[in-house]
Amino acid sequence: MELWFTENQTASLRISVKASKVLEHRQTGYQELSVLETEPWGTMLALDGMIQTTERDEAAYHEMMVHVPLSTHPRPRRVAVIGGGDGGAIREVLKHPSVEQAVLVEIDPAVVEASRRWLPSLSSGLDDPRVQVVAADGRAYVQQAGQGDVPPFDVIVVDSTDPVRAAVGLFSEEFYRDVRGALAPGGILTAQTESPYLNRELLRQAFRAAAQVFPLARLYLTCVPTYPSGLWSFTLGSLGPDPLDPAGRGPEGSCRYYTPELHRAAFALPAFVTELIRP
Ligand code: SAM
Repeated sequence: MELWFTENQTASLRISVKASKVLEHRQTGYQELSVLETEPWGTMLALDGMIQTTERDEAAYHEMMVHVPLSTHPRPRRVAVIGGGDGGAIREVLKHPSVEQAVLVEIDPAVVEASRRWLPSLSSGLDDPRVQVVAADGRAYVQQAGQGDVPPFDVIVVDSTDPVRAAVGLFSEEFYRDVRGALAPGGILTAQTESPYLNRELLRQAFRAAAQVFPLARLYLTCVPTYPSGLWSFTLGSLGPDPLDPAGRGPEGSCRYYTPELHRAAFALPAFVTELIRP
């Protein structure tokens, strides 16, 4: 019997992928977690029925989400990833030799456990001595960061799920204000802000919120075949450097997707996306 995984991307759009095996399927304390072996995309992680990452196309997401801000900052030393329990973003952060500490703030420790078990190519960096894994709500963590026990960060990357449950607040102006407060001078935020085709209002609101909070806000794009519509956006807010004129060094080690040329090209937006974020 054939096994197919279907994600209801919207009320009228679905994506299906043929799976050869269910590696794990359970209700965590927080959400429904599935790990499947798929034919086209390799091992795939889904949460609440939504595809989060797959072995074969994750580089287009993680590399662009991380290397654009970290190559823009002149010397990123402290970096936080909010969400991102699969470890893919942290793996990329560690490709920057200036990084002294990388903090992963994931609300659901079961995601980290599952990724350590089934997705070692993503989670490999989590045992690096520079990495601290914190099980917490990213909103609360960011609120108290930048002071006392948690010194400010040079870059904060928001690698969240779609805006459901605790992730809703990660797309708000209030959260971006807290991020700003948790950044060191010249710091940078990058947040995944969903599909320009299917999440137009959310993207518009998130970008406008970032533009209210940060002196410089820019939108850039990547292409992730297993995400709804394939075209995916990131919102970058900067207290200093402009990603169009990167001040830092690029990643060391191999990348499957990111190149300096693509870094610049990613900010060239289709007309309808420019229109979407027009003030
Ligand atoms: N790239 C993926 C996407 O766009 O579909 C996201 C991957 S990553 C697995 C998302 C993670 O964010 C999940 O593991 C989820 O548990 C975590 N998350 C959601 N809300 C959170 C919050 N408020 N604080 C920290 N982590 C959160």
